[in-house]
Amino acid sequence: MSTPAAGIGWDLLARRCRRLLPARAVVAARQELLAYDSDGLTLHRHQPPLVVLPETTAEVAAVVRLCHELGVPFVARGSGTGLSGGAVAETEALVIATSRMRQVLSIDLPNRRVTVQPGVINSWVTRAVSGDGFYYAPDPSSQVVCSIGGNVAENSGGVHCLKYGVTSNHVLAMEVVLPDGTVTTLGSGLPETPELDLRGVFIGSEGTLGIATAITLRLLRAPQSVAVLLADFATMEAAGEAVRLVTAAGVLPAGMEIMDNFTINAVDDLFGHDEYPRQAAAVLLIELDGQEREVGAAVEIASELCRQAGAGTVRRASEEADRALLWKGRKSAFAAVGRITPTYYVQDGVVPRSALPSVLAAIEELSRRYELPVANVFHAGDGNLHPLILYRADEPGVTERVQALGAEILRLCIEAGGSITGEHGVGNDKRCYLDWMFSNDDLATMQRVRQAFDPAGLANPGKIFPTPRSCGESARRAVSLPEGAGVEVF
Ligand SMILES: Cc1cc2nc3c(=O)[nH]c(=O)nc-3n(C[C@H](O)[C@H](O)[C@H](O)COP(=O)(O)OP(=O)(O)OC[C@H]3O[C@@H](n4cnc5c(N)ncnc54)[C@H](O)[C@@H]3O)c2cc1C
Repeated sequence: MSTPAAGIGWDLLARRCRRLLPARAVVAARQELLAYDSDGLTLHRHQPPLVVLPETTAEVAAVVRLCHELGVPFVARGSGTGLSGGAVAETEALVIATSRMRQVLSIDLPNRRVTVQPGVINSWVTRAVSGDGFYYAPDPSSQVVCSIGGNVAENSGGVHCLKYGVTSNHVLAMEVVLPDGTVTTLGSGLPETPELDLRGVFIGSEGTLGIATAITLRLLRAPQSVAVLLADFATMEAAGEAVRLVTAAGVLPAGMEIMDNFTINAVDDLFGHDEYPRQAAAVLLIELDGQEREVGAAVEIASELCRQAGAGTVRRASEEADRALLWKGRKSAFAAVGRITPTYYVQDGVVPRSALPSVLAAIEELSRRYELPVANVFHAGDGNLHPLILYRADEPGVTERVQALGAEILRLCIEAGGSITGEHGVGNDKRCYLDWMFSNDDLATMQRVRQAFDPAGLANPGKIFPTPRSCGESARRAVSLPEGAGVEVF
């Protein structure tokens, strides 16, 4: 085994960890470590030398203190569904996985809050309180597998975040193990407090400021009435126009999602029946919720506006089972595409809603130029695109081509006034593009905040910020672009 930073071997570190944790909580066998070599983005694979599976805050703190004492870098890991390489130990580091921290610690319905350990799966939160008429709003499509700790670290979104906001709007407080092993609390259980909002700084920091070990979440009352509309369109532009009209009319849906023709067919194939119209260039799903009369009126307005934009049919699903089926298709979109292609690379750009049609047309053009199919499924209400670039990993040189196309898509998003990530984070995948959006001064300021939490630089090193080594590699990638691609990585 090779050597951690302070000249201590990984074997010795494993022995020290076994003194702090039960033996079964220390994973050192090569074949078992394989399970931790990537997250949901399989483009980047690095097998870690050692993984620990603590069950309590005290165990996490003891391991982090040991890392601090020995100068060993560490990487927090939840369920490993991230799509930006955030939970991957790219340089040799100890992986601290929270998958055994799965307890709902307390439920406080009068104050509408619940406190959970970080390894609790997103959908379990709603399951724990739905019997009492409550739910937890942020619902990533991966919600049946991703952890609340990962959601906090990525500030995850989901199909219902258009109306209710992303994770940061629903986290009241967190118990956090700082990178020197100190346990602290960020935020309080109250919705508003006067202190500097370090809770907000931690959310979305991708494991670079410490490890969240208990998280207090806001609960919402389940709405009285919910309806889902499914509208199909002959062009993507028409679907985009429907989104514009609905928004301009002042209707605020809980979610507005679009799938393109490729994705529609992939999902219908997965289902084994035609849930969505196969011929449509795009389908738009609109969820409306609230009081019964309010939902009834919103359904009328939104249906009419979809027709005005050129919808073929507008179908309404009011029954729970029908609504669930329509959303299941949307939430299974990545898996459905995954059945068709052995590998895909998901991008996560954001554009102003008005730029959706032109950016989608430009992506189609890029897809032709790079000779790589691109499926589109996205949070249309937020302008958050998820182009899926389909490829075969065994094709020589394809990885560089895929990454170059992904970079061009992000460049398009920035030029349209958008961002390189909406919800999947920067991780190691997009760190070389961060300076497309921020000046050196901006980046230096962010680094100062990071150093205030982690002066020794041990928490998830190399993530988020461009580094000369990693971004030098990406500069070399840019040199091998297809002719005429013209992307400037720097
Ligand atoms: C099919 C599919 C669909 C998806 N759909 C969505 C979607 O709709 N919306 C969305 O936002 N994302 C989506 N994702 C991405 C992913 O599920 C989210 O980013 C999720 O929040 C990651 O959670 P995780 O538990 O898997 O975290 P991991 O992948 O294990 O880790 C993600 C990051 O969080 C850090 N981390 C993990 N736990 C902690 C902790 N306790 N404290 C501090 N840092 C921690 C890690 O270091 C890493 O940087 C999707 C992914 C897949 C595969």
